[in-house]
This record gives sequence, C-alpha cells and structure tokens, in this order.
Amino acid sequence: MRTLKTLFLASVVLIASNKINGQTFIPAVKQFIEIQDSIVAITHVKIIDGTGAAAMNNQDIVLVKNRIQSVGASGKIAIPAGAKIIDGSGKTVIPGLIMLHEHLFYAKPFEGDYKAVHMTYTFPKMYLAGGVTTMRTAGSIEANADLNVKNLITKGRMAGPKMDVSTPHIEREGFIPQVQSLYGNESPERMVDYWADKGVTSVKVYNNITRDDLARIVKAAHARHIKVTGHLCSITYREATDLGIDNLEHGFMASSDFIPNKQVDVCDRAAQAQSLLKLDDNSPELRQLMQYLIQKNITLTYTPTVFEPYTNREVIPGGGIVAMAPFLRDQIQAIYDQQVNKDSLGQLAFKKEMHRIKQFYSMGGKVVMGTDPTGAGRTIAGYSNQRIIELLIETGFTLPEAIKISTLNGAKYLNIANETGTIEKGKIADLVLIDGDLEKDVSNIRKMEIVFKEGVGFSSKKIFASVKGKLGLD
Ligand SMILES: [Zn+2]
Repeated sequence: MRTLKTLFLASVVLIASNKINGQTFIPAVKQFIEIQDSIVAITHVKIIDGTGAAAMNNQDIVLVKNRIQSVGASGKIAIPAGAKIIDGSGKTVIPGLIMLHEHLFYAKPFEGDYKAVHMTYTFPKMYLAGGVTTMRTAGSIEANADLNVKNLITKGRMAGPKMDVSTPHIEREGFIPQVQSLYGNESPERMVDYWADKGVTSVKVYNNITRDDLARIVKAAHARHIKVTGHLCSITYREATDLGIDNLEHGFMASSDFIPNKQVDVCDRAAQAQSLLKLDDNSPELRQLMQYLIQKNITLTYTPTVFEPYTNREVIPGGGIVAMAPFLRDQIQAIYDQQVNKDSLGQLAFKKEMHRIKQFYSMGGKVVMGTDPTGAGRTIAGYSNQRIIELLIETGFTLPEAIKISTLNGAKYLNIANETGTIEKGKIADLVLIDGDLEKDVSNIRKMEIVFKEGVGFSSKKIFASVKGKLGLD
C-alpha cells in the first residue's frame, strides 16, 4: 500500500512539475515564482552593479533565460519583442547577495545556553526571500541534511539559494553539545576526506582545535582544492595564517592574538573578550596584524548581525519577529525585555569591531559578509541578510561599497565571480529588485520585491508570508 501511495504521489509531482528557463520546479516551489518569462526587461531602474561603481539611474536590464543579456541607459539598448516588461521606476536593482557565514540551524535559547536546531524548511527559503542567491554554510550540525537541501534546491524541490556546503564544525571539546566532531587520536585528514567525498565544498574549524589539527586539515583540504575557514579561539590569527588558513570568521572578534601571555592551543573566551575590549583601535600591534593578514591574502568574514543583539536595538534585527512561532517569539521577547539597555560592553565591542573592519578594508584587506544566525537566537535567516546592508552603512561604508562587499567579494572568494556577483552583460541573472530608492534610504533594502535566481523571479513577500509564525516549528 505504502509503495503504491508513494508511487502515486511521485507521479503527481512529476506531472505537475514545470520547466522554467531550463529549470524544473514542483508546485510547492512554483507558488513562490512571480516572474517565469524567458525574456524579461526591467526598465527605468536604478542599478547598483556590485563592482563598487556609483549607482546609475534610469537603466534598462534585459534577462534572457538564466543570463543578463544587456544592461544600459534606458532607451539605449534593444528590448526584444515579447519581453515581459517590469517598470523599475522608483526601484533599485542590486546583484543577488552572496553570504558566507550562513547556517541551516538556529540558536534556540535554553536557560542561558542554546541548542543548535536544524531549520530544514524555513531557513533555506528565508535566505532566498532575503535576497541571498548564493550562500556558504560556515559550519554544520547536520551536514548530510545541508547536502540534501542543496540537492533538493538544485532540483527545484525546495526554494533556496545556491549553496556551498561546509563540513560540520571541526572541533574538539567545547561547550556546545552539537558541535564537537573530532575526538582523541582520530585523523583530521580522514574527516576532511570523508566529507569531501560526500560533496562538501568548504571546511570550517572551530574554537578548540590545536595547531597540529589545523596544519593537517589545511593540507588535506587544499589537496582537494577546498578552502578552510575558522571561528578561532585556541589558535591566534597569526598562527592560523602561518598554518595556511584561507578565511577567518567574525572579523577581529575571534582574535586571541592580544591575550597577554596566551597559552598555546588553549581557548580562553573570557580573556579573549577582555583583550579585545582593551585593545586600542589605533594600536600598532593591531595594525601590524592587519598588515600581516593582508600580505598573506587572508579574507575576513564580517558578521555584525550576530553581535548586534547584544546591543539591544531591534528585537530581531531586520524586523523578522513575525516569522517566529509564538512560543519562540514570547521567549525571545522576554529575554530582550530583561536585557535591554543593560549590556554596555556589548555596545562597546560592537562599535570597536566596526572601526577595526573599516580600517582593515581601507588598508586593502579582503572583507566578505555573513550573518551567522546563532548567538542570542535573535539573528534569523533572510531578515538578517537585509539588515547586514544597513549595518555596513553604519560601519562607514558607502552604499556601492556595501553592495560590493556583500556580492562580488563573496563571489571572488568562492571562485564564481566570472559567473555571478555583479550586474553585467553575460553573467548569470542573479539579482534583486527592490521596491524603493536604496540611495535615498538604505532601509528600503527591507522592501525586496523579486529575487531573481538564474533568471527565475521569486516573490520575496510571498516567501516571507509563507513562513510567518512558523520559524522554530520545523
Ligand atoms: Zn557560525
């Protein structure tokens, strides 16, 4: 009976599937697709193209199937006959966001700790609704599930961004039960190979690994052309750089380089936090570290969204409290009410990090973005990806810089910049149409209308509406 039912359901799904621009979507995904024409022209629109160039007013963009066929001043490029015309007057187009510290899990609060809970169904589509067309999961508590979600998205059976899936956090003993993955004399090389064989394309290391672990992980990963990133603590940035790491998570917030008399291979989070609060923004040691990272071509992932909750502004940065299941919303609101305006150290750390990132970037440092929906449980997929653009402006970046850091920089790191990351003729049509002038008010980033992924236009509003009150139930 069961087999018959499954067969029946499978055939219904198959019949109802629909091809759009060469991609197949099941009805559950198709319901979110607003624009499915094979020729689309967005006219009279403002473009911020992701290269860092100034915004251009009154532009036309033509999409043919999954590619950007042409971009130019309105009226100067040919609009093919039969094109679906979208009037972009008063609107803005940016490239699809490319975010490198995302997770498919959420930090569900529990008595001062948190439990990493996989958000298999809500998070992938929320990322897409938040403008993300490509994401890296920087660490995974269910790497198999992440790989399967990626596969389902590719096949049009789930809505979500293109994914670069990382290993589980490679970690020794720490304080988060879901995270340790390396025990005793177990081989770190075997772990890298095991996950690379399954299709993982990035490696993430965590707080308590040793220098020996990192050296072996980097060697094994690089042998397979896979990059390694780390949220470090036991290992300093300088040590990790010398061991060949590619990317450091959380800007300078995870640097243990400034702990006086630091013990090697030992993570002391309190000392780390204190040393960073004490660190003068203009200290020569900090500047030397920045220069060293730049010289060694290290990329920093800036994740202000995971720290902002400790400054107690919006309950859910980016305005996503409507997405939360009522039980979770009440819990989060209660925690917020208890803490609001009580964490001045959190505010100081947040400001100092902004200053350091701006300085690193000005010196020529490579910065990419990621939201990291963990921490206080108040950073959630999609909404935080929009919020991060506002935070880049607060950090002191110009709007074109903010967009470039959140798009092209991520594409370059992932080696996909020849295909995506900017609005340019010939590139894949990964772009976001925003209902408002982003230059006039950056908070218009919250008014995303259509997120085009490979030329297929998903309705941001429809997706966000579909998860209302559901986050935490899946
Ligand atoms: Zn993380």
